[in-house]
Amino acid sequence: MNKNDSEIINQVLIGNGFPRVENPLEADIIFINTCSVRNHAEQRALGYISTLKKWREKKGLVLGVIGCMAKRLADEIITRYPFVDLVLGPDSYQKIPEYIKLVTENKTKIIDTEVGSELYTNVEKTSHRVSDFVSITRGCDNYCSYCIVPFVRGRMRSRPADDIIREVNCLVGSGVKDITLLGQNVNEYNYNSINFSGLLRIVAQKTNVFRLRFLTSHPKDFSEEIINVIKENKNICEWFHLPLQSGNNRILQLMNRKYTKEDYLGIIERIRKNIPEAFITTDIIVGFPTESEKEFNETIELVKQIEFDDAYMYRYSVRPGTRASEYPSLPEEVIKQRLKILIEVQNQIIIKKTKQMIGKTYEVLFEEKTYNGTRGKTRGNKDVIVEQNIEPGSVYNVLITEIRGRTPIGRVT
Ligand code: SAM
Ligand code: SF4
Repeated sequence: MNKNDSEIINQVLIGNGFPRVENPLEADIIFINTCSVRNHAEQRALGYISTLKKWREKKGLVLGVIGCMAKRLADEIITRYPFVDLVLGPDSYQKIPEYIKLVTENKTKIIDTEVGSELYTNVEKTSHRVSDFVSITRGCDNYCSYCIVPFVRGRMRSRPADDIIREVNCLVGSGVKDITLLGQNVNEYNYNSINFSGLLRIVAQKTNVFRLRFLTSHPKDFSEEIINVIKENKNICEWFHLPLQSGNNRILQLMNRKYTKEDYLGIIERIRKNIPEAFITTDIIVGFPTESEKEFNETIELVKQIEFDDAYMYRYSVRPGTRASEYPSLPEEVIKQRLKILIEVQNQIIIKKTKQMIGKTYEVLFEEKTYNGTRGKTRGNKDVIVEQNIEPGSVYNVLITEIRGRTPIGRVT
């Protein structure tokens, strides 16, 4: 989501006569787009802001901090880093050109952290990439007890379907072949009685997009209809990112996820029964407050049972202001150890499943040259390398011949 927002900010700047430079220290204006989901992301952004003090005092005209951390820590940023000129929440990017003018002309500082209304109106996104993103919703109302997103991104709102189609067409026109529809919970999309499966069908059928995906699906809102739309439309990829978070029902309830382990298993079963070639990936948090060893082991057992094709795995990070921040935290060492165990288990699963790709042929959309060949993606969103020189944007069937580490290597057939 943030990568996509950064691209849009970049286009707003370019469109207003501020071309991009490759080396940040040669820039006149720098914006840092920030994330608040985990403490680690915030600490990295704060560290980077400190490194720009010299640049701002000697050469830079405007230093801006934007995004979720800017919204959450606006006062702290202005106090701790007095060389920062602009602190803008995630919804203020369309006002950046106007604010740059104010800052440079009046030598003033601006803080604008209002959220709740932005919906990418008038954004004309073009791209030079093979794969790109289109946001279909902003904000989130789910209030998972550990999560800061609803506090920093505002209420969930859906973008008009016509705007989404216009942006998809714009990207397809500029050469993009693989588009991911984005939202904190795409399954909650609802605009003028078009729900998510309706939107997916319209985008698949009314645009010439070669491959269509979506991210992220909250299991509590996953519908059978989504599976049907995927089966009916060849350009929608068989890839499901369904964050599990925990394999224990007490922890899921404390997390306010509104599904049980049994509900989750039911979804996986329905997907695999209808689309046997589906790739399923997930997010998991370990060390949630009060999680016992036994409850953590239930997550491990579920991960072994489901055999995800990939997983983003996180240590629980306390987010001030959330409900979970009031619960007693587990010792950091315990949380670290649990993450290590989970990563080891999941890595073995990935290696096993990637080995099963050997000898099979996959449709690969090539994205970029690498030092030893070309990297592309399968429909299941799995990276594949061929040691051949292939033009990015082209599509070939690739026979997988071996795996290196966790990466399948193949050759064009
Ligand atoms: N909206 C998506 C959903 O509900 O599945 C997820 C968006 S969140 C920005 C991405 C992932 O970050 C979550 O699925 C969760 O695993 C992780 N995450 C969020 N808050 C966290 C926290 N406080 N500590 C650790 N991981 C967290
Ligand atoms: Fe955070 Fe839950 Fe919303 Fe996802 S659905 S963004 S985890 S509150």
